[in-house]
Amino acid sequence: MLFIGRIRLSESELARILEFAESILNQHYHNMKINREWHEANRMPKNANFEQRVKWHLEHAKYCSCRPIPQKLVEEMERKGLKR
Ligand SMILES: [Zn+2]
Repeated sequence: MLFIGRIRLSESELARILEFAESILNQHYHNMKINREWHEANRMPKNANFEQRVKWHLEHAKYCSCRPIPQKLVEEMERKGLKR
């Protein structure tokens, strides 16, 4: 049992509150990582070719860190002598 002033919390209530706080923090962290505005303004073209995908991912990496450049694309870029 935890007392905060007149508020009395049981352990299960406290656990629920901590869980809730954690979910909000996770959500916040997630939002920080995704640059939604950039994504809205820069959609990957449908059936993008290699060049378009490279361009998209290089720009993406500058403005957003929601996901890395796919390993396969990186390998293909290295094969073709392109720098990241
Ligand atoms: Zn992103």
